[in-house]
Amino acid sequence: MIIEPRVRGFICTTAHPAGCARNVADQIAYVRRQGELAACPKRVAVLGCSTGYGLATRIVATFAGGADTIGVSFEREPTETRTASAGWYNNRAFEAQASNSGRPALTLEGDAFSDAMKASFIDAVRERFGQIDLLVYSLAAPSRTDPDTGQTWRSSIKAIGEPVQAKTLNTETGEVLEASLAPASEEEAAATVAVMGGDDWKRWIDQLRAAGVLAPGFRTLNYTYIGSEHTWPIYWKGTLGRAKADIDQKAEAIRGQLGEDAARIVALKAVVTQASSAIPMVPLYGTVLFKVMKAMGLHEGCIEQIDRLFRTRLGSDAALDEAGRLRLDDWELSDAVQAEVSRRWPLLTTQTLADLADLPEYRTQFLRLFGFGVAGVDYAADADPRVVPA
Ligand code: NAD
Repeated sequence: MIIEPRVRGFICTTAHPAGCARNVADQIAYVRRQGELAACPKRVAVLGCSTGYGLATRIVATFAGGADTIGVSFEREPTETRTASAGWYNNRAFEAQASNSGRPALTLEGDAFSDAMKASFIDAVRERFGQIDLLVYSLAAPSRTDPDTGQTWRSSIKAIGEPVQAKTLNTETGEVLEASLAPASEEEAAATVAVMGGDDWKRWIDQLRAAGVLAPGFRTLNYTYIGSEHTWPIYWKGTLGRAKADIDQKAEAIRGQLGEDAARIVALKAVVTQASSAIPMVPLYGTVLFKVMKAMGLHEGCIEQIDRLFRTRLGSDAALDEAGRLRLDDWELSDAVQAEVSRRWPLLTTQTLADLADLPEYRTQFLRLFGFGVAGVDYAADADPRVVPA
């Protein structure tokens, strides 16, 4: 069949196997160009391994760090007539390349929030690795079923307290809109913390520790976004920020159990991923940010950020912020970048968008997440959605 993008708001319901495979290959090529890492944990687990920051983490650990990895992600499998999720194609492409490089990788697909997945993971680690040295938690999910109560929590991406007057972007039409975004109820805020906070991360660490599969010197990382005043009303000061404050607390608790350097939150920059495209204000902020950072020669995507993390922030001498976090959002939040974003922000309208922001780049990156618009891929060729080309 001919596979085309089918975009509905901030999701694309199809994905292209050859395009996804090429995306993975391009990221591997980038990492290889940077050279081998001087030091890297050798048995690495990535939860949320199939797209975005998690996929980049798995690629850097494997292809620059020489690590063996076990990944967990939630995917839709293909049928003869329906494409898989992009992450399913990415996982297959990653596994093939890792195997070709002598680092066969294991991927478990299913619900990382369940205890059944944690049990399967522990069995697999015992069998394949014995123990693990590093676990990176990079899950982004809209809902979570609590294994203790069976209750399903759904996150709401909303402000807290007062309604927020915000500029947003319709990425399909290019319209800049002024919207009043209603605040979350206390229940919605609590549910968002239950989904995107640190409960499940801590549960993973507790269960892996009890099973004896954490190696001496084990470390765990969890990713956060802090951002600037342009996104604070909906992000850092909203329900997601409350969930991210919870992972800061859980990091503290894990450090209390496993040692001072055992758990770190890593603040990363805003990039286009399936998760971030669903957050109001973030696509508009992103289109401005990309234009500004590109003009300043500071542009980074997932792979560049994670490569920099492994090269410059995992040593024992790495600088921490006041909350004990590692910061990779330093370029995004630099005075020069934020001053220029702030200058442009009040001027943004549907008419000025093309001058002040880079919507074409945003759209290109969004479609690329699903394997579309990737250079070197023949989209007119007949493709079997069940086959990921080598
Ligand atoms: P993403 O949507 O690209 O990836 C999410 C991953 O989670 C996928 O691999 C998906 O399969 C997996 N997943 C979702 N639900 C699951 C479940 N129930 N079981 C197993 N796997 C599941 O997201 P992302 O943007 O890379 O986000 C990863 C982390 O990075 C998040 O903590 C996010 O807050 C953080 N972060 C993102 C940005 C950004 O701009 N995108 C910036 C800073 C920090």
